[in-house]
Amino acid sequence: MRTWKAILTAVLLASMNAAAQQVAGSQPSAQPTAPDATQTAQPSQQAAPAADQQAQQSQPATAPAAQPAAPQAISLAPPAPAPAPTTMDQVVNLFIEREHGLIKVLATRTPVVETYLQNLVSDPQLGPVPSADHYFLGRMDMGETVDRKDYLKEEEKSMQQRLMGGFAKLYKVQYQPLGFSWMVYADRTDFDREHYDFRYARREFLGDVRCLVFDVTPKPKSGRGRFLGRIWVEDQGFNIVRLNGTYYPAPRNSYFFHMDSWRLNLIPGYWVPSFIYSEEGDFSAGVKNKMAFKAQTRIWGYDLKKGGKDDELTQIRVDSVTDESPTAQDASPLQAERVWQQQAEDNVVERLTNAGLLAPEGDVDRILQTVVNNLEVTNNIDLPRPVRTRVLLTSPLETFSVGNTIVISRGLVDVLPDEASLAAVLSHELAHIVLGHNLGSKFAFNDRMLFNDDSTYQNLGFKHIPEEEQAADKKAVDLLKNSPYAQKLDNVGLFLKALQVRAGSLTALLTTHLGNPLAENGTVNRLTALAAQGPALDNSKLDQIAALPLGGRVKVNPWDDKAEMVKTAPVAITSARDKMPFEVTPFFPRLARYGAGAAPVAAPTTAAANSGSGN
Ligand SMILES: [Zn+2]
Repeated sequence: MRTWKAILTAVLLASMNAAAQQVAGSQPSAQPTAPDATQTAQPSQQAAPAADQQAQQSQPATAPAAQPAAPQAISLAPPAPAPAPTTMDQVVNLFIEREHGLIKVLATRTPVVETYLQNLVSDPQLGPVPSADHYFLGRMDMGETVDRKDYLKEEEKSMQQRLMGGFAKLYKVQYQPLGFSWMVYADRTDFDREHYDFRYARREFLGDVRCLVFDVTPKPKSGRGRFLGRIWVEDQGFNIVRLNGTYYPAPRNSYFFHMDSWRLNLIPGYWVPSFIYSEEGDFSAGVKNKMAFKAQTRIWGYDLKKGGKDDELTQIRVDSVTDESPTAQDASPLQAERVWQQQAEDNVVERLTNAGLLAPEGDVDRILQTVVNNLEVTNNIDLPRPVRTRVLLTSPLETFSVGNTIVISRGLVDVLPDEASLAAVLSHELAHIVLGHNLGSKFAFNDRMLFNDDSTYQNLGFKHIPEEEQAADKKAVDLLKNSPYAQKLDNVGLFLKALQVRAGSLTALLTTHLGNPLAENGTVNRLTALAAQGPALDNSKLDQIAALPLGGRVKVNPWDDKAEMVKTAPVAITSARDKMPFEVTPFFPRLARYGAGAAPVAAPTTAAANSGSGN
């Protein structure tokens, strides 16, 4: 049973941080030229597919009617003052039309939208640091009225309303319908020449993609809340790939955020809204700021099925208890219990995946499983079934386990400084499994899985009682001390200290939705036996990396939810302000065209994504 296991003491961080090997896709194949200039801004019947999304997605050849015209072939050469394929006026018509095409194509989608916001105060040593935080998670209906239905529980919903109320008092709520995801489109209804002036600014590469940059200003008297800013339009299909700006004019006593919105070429012919960074506040001398914050909005789950009755029926698992014993006999009571638990586990994993909360099995799981494996082998743990791992796609720091599946959130993988710290948080869940603290077996009843995506959080929950938490922590420390990580537990101690420093201000990041929290009431309560270990936290030591910013490790494909490790080259830290533990940072994905070698998924760069020093 254990022969397949192998100890991999190699520092996984090396692979986690491996230098980027961007296969800069040189794929100057079909260059759709600009269609006739006679086309105008009307959202005319697009050649591109509209109705059948599934077909659209499975046929890679549905790019907008591509008529390769040789003379205008635009190669991926360095930027040059090459003449545009058409006049800039025609380019404007094209991207207006493409934008309407995108709105149409995504109208039936209900992706998951997550916004994580950190309020900021100024710290003399560290610059702006988080003083409080807020978290929103929901499904966004990309159809007629863009609206967000919340996954969160009632009390958290009212927290959101309170926050909205807080903003309302200061600024009047102007973002209410869309909040931080407003900038998925520049203007949903009136993105045209009647309402806007477009002025060509320059050419610029974003990643591998050459773009035409336009300044967009609302025409006088075109109404309130119009987009004001800059857009980047890729120069093959003339799709908008980035929007940066705000809305204007704001009604009296109201306020619009500044946003930077990025799209990825995840399906042929379309660039899909994926990341939005918002920031307000100025900490230069003399500036008074009532509200300073930075926020990351992530959109994923575009390919999720829309929840509904029919959909629910397909979620009923028809496979009953299978007898895998060599003799065709009834399962023994213990066997039955195990199969029962596995059924519950499978149900929950499937349900969370369908709801867009768990990444499908993949790349990151292999790394996590290797770490779990290292703990198991060195502790002679031999379970009847192998332990599996999965990534929860959300930002709040949490782990939980159901049956033999350990789940860890994307946000937690992001902020962990090294492999030993990863082993530490996984060891707690492995301890629950070893100790038989099984949760969730009630989910072996299929009727318990029949609920809407929106109520997933209300219906699922894997929180242990305090006694089991303590027992798991104790066991986890034992496991770690026998493991290849035994000599690196100082780093775990440092991480826990860094977490403690921010535990009081980052309550939303530490509020778990499915598992037990790492900290409660401002106090870290996970693995406290290790918290005293290691050196004192010292911000001035540049080689001491106790915790990383969010977004530096795991990237998620917003279309199919696949998660993989970010490959960014280490960036040297030059001051304490570069450390940014647990903080959100702007997005700066390396854009690439669909199918162009390098995965078309963004790798948000963060200054402190390099953590190698911790090893
Ligand atoms: Zn636990």
